[in-house]
Amino acid sequence: MENILHRYDYPAHRKTRIAPTPSGFLHLGNVLSFVLTATLARRSGAAILLRIDDMDQQRVRPEYVQDIFDTLHFLDIPWEEGPRNPEELQRQWSQVGREALYLQALEALKAAGKLFACDCSRSRLQQFDGSYDGHCLHRALPWEGKEVCWRINTGAELPLLMKTKTGMLPVSLPPEQQYFVVRKKDGHAAYQLASVIDDDYFGVDLIVRGADLWDSTLAQLYLAQQAGMDRFGNTTFYHHPLLMETPEKKLSKSDGATSVHYLRKNGNTKAAIFSAIANMLGIHEQVPDWETLGSLLLDRCAVRR
Ligand SMILES: [Zn+2]
Repeated sequence: MENILHRYDYPAHRKTRIAPTPSGFLHLGNVLSFVLTATLARRSGAAILLRIDDMDQQRVRPEYVQDIFDTLHFLDIPWEEGPRNPEELQRQWSQVGREALYLQALEALKAAGKLFACDCSRSRLQQFDGSYDGHCLHRALPWEGKEVCWRINTGAELPLLMKTKTGMLPVSLPPEQQYFVVRKKDGHAAYQLASVIDDDYFGVDLIVRGADLWDSTLAQLYLAQQAGMDRFGNTTFYHHPLLMETPEKKLSKSDGATSVHYLRKNGNTKAAIFSAIANMLGIHEQVPDWETLGSLLLDRCAVRR
């Protein structure tokens, strides 16, 4: 009975994903995201894909990869698709193995005249407070020059729509995402591009992520539209509030004391970890498992938009 009611509330989805980056130990904020993803997956009938975002090989460390599996196992958070261990990640699921797909998409965008090369230095970019002024747009720099990244020409004011639980939301690209980078100076695909291609490749149609990725979602919608990836535009997005360390500062991987690794090593049970997350969100209850935490959060509308 309960399931039928939940399905009435939540439209059916095929697949969602948990997509951690192995560049640090996972923290309570990551766990919140995983729990909401798993809960919405169960309520909408979606399978869960574990997609480890290991594109940036410079920052990947084996202990961080292992930490992802250890954390999911320790907290009993399920996934149906994706690697079961670091060896399977290497062999079959790493983003490195999909690089050809990313490069193919980049070449197609380039051939369609939607990209430009940029050699602006970090210090030049710092003048613009996170946004980019389009300095290289008409400079026709060589594509394969030294210290050159590729940016997308966002000059076309495209009407964008974000599919949410309550319907299609009209959105637009924020100034911080004007001319965003699609290929980095090291020649590898940038996060926005790899993420969109992966979601399309795996058939993801439900994305649950922190509100800090709102601007990223807008960039990805823009990119998908430019690349003609219609399926991505039909993905439903849920952006959830973040766990904050202080009212101004969100939790991050540099805060060792909120890493699951640290908490686990110090004898905390999974119930203690879920209860700590609930507590940070103003729910002062003992929470034994992720299912309970997910229900408490959704019932109190922690997932907006
Ligand atoms: Zn430039």
